Amino acid sequence: DDQISALSKHASKIRLDDVKDGQERDKDKADRATSEQVLDQRTRMILYQMINRGAVSEVHGAISTGKEANVYGAVAYPDIHGPPVQRAVKVYKTAILSFKDRERYITGEHRFKSGADKGNNRKMVKLWAEKEFRNLRRIHSAGIACPEPIQLKLHVLVMDFLGDRKGWAYPRLRDATIPADDAEQIWMHLYIQLLGIMRRMYQVCKLVHADLSEYNILYNDKQLYIIDVSQSVEHDHPRSLEFLRMDIKNTGDFFRRQGVDTLSDRTVFDFITI
Ligand code: ATP
Ligand code: MN
Repeated sequence: DDQISALSKHASKIRLDDVKDGQERDKDKADRATSEQVLDQRTRMILYQMINRGAVSEVHGAISTGKEANVYGAVAYPDIHGPPVQRAVKVYKTAILSFKDRERYITGEHRFKSGADKGNNRKMVKLWAEKEFRNLRRIHSAGIACPEPIQLKLHVLVMDFLGDRKGWAYPRLRDATIPADDAEQIWMHLYIQLLGIMRRMYQVCKLVHADLSEYNILYNDKQLYIIDVSQSVEHDHPRSLEFLRMDIKNTGDFFRRQGVDTLSDRTVFDFITI
């Protein structure tokens, strides 16, 4: 697992010094990503369209290849005369996505009553990407640190890249390097920060993340970033409180393992919901 994460870290390096203008080169890059055999014809067409419309200008190597989605680094020129900006492109896999797991998030979600056609993979994945896009928009608007959603087309989502200027994606909280001399204080600070985020997500966004853990939080410079919100549900979803309890337990367990003297899960639940 560590080897894999080292590999994907390496792949996440976006070489801004490589960046040049021109459609031919853009197409070249998209082709290269395609040749990794994860992008089908349809996805490729969407990327070409996005390139033509300027949402992205180049698509680079994979930051992460997962069961359900791949995330690629990308570069865009929002202002023709301005500097390039880095973006991340999340491509949901149409073929492999397992809907059994996901059904519990969709059933009871009033935003998706009409669209959920479990027999149609392509439609389901589109719905899933749409859900992530809307949730990100809501979370970002509430001032919670997360990738800003930029564009959505079918199962392809373009968002802000969370990483440094050299193109290295921020590590997941699980892999974060915390300075040892100040570790205790920083972990406490991060714990309190996360409680605030969860409360704000519940009270302001009216959302429960529903897959919150040290794997779906990125870390940089004492700041937490929430990602991977495709399964997040409305707070009036019939199982939202069950998902919230799970989020509280998973994140609480993680911080306890870091030596943080955490509040009880019950206290945290009340803090978030009341
Ligand atoms: P899977 O479960 O199939 O791996 P996923 O649904 O978990 O995919 P995400 O958690 O959203 O996908 O993203 C996977 C990884 O990609 C993250 O752990 C993170 O390292 C990286 N990543 C995602 N979004 C961004 C972003 N906006 N900027 C930088 N890195 C990102
Ligand atoms: Mn994830």
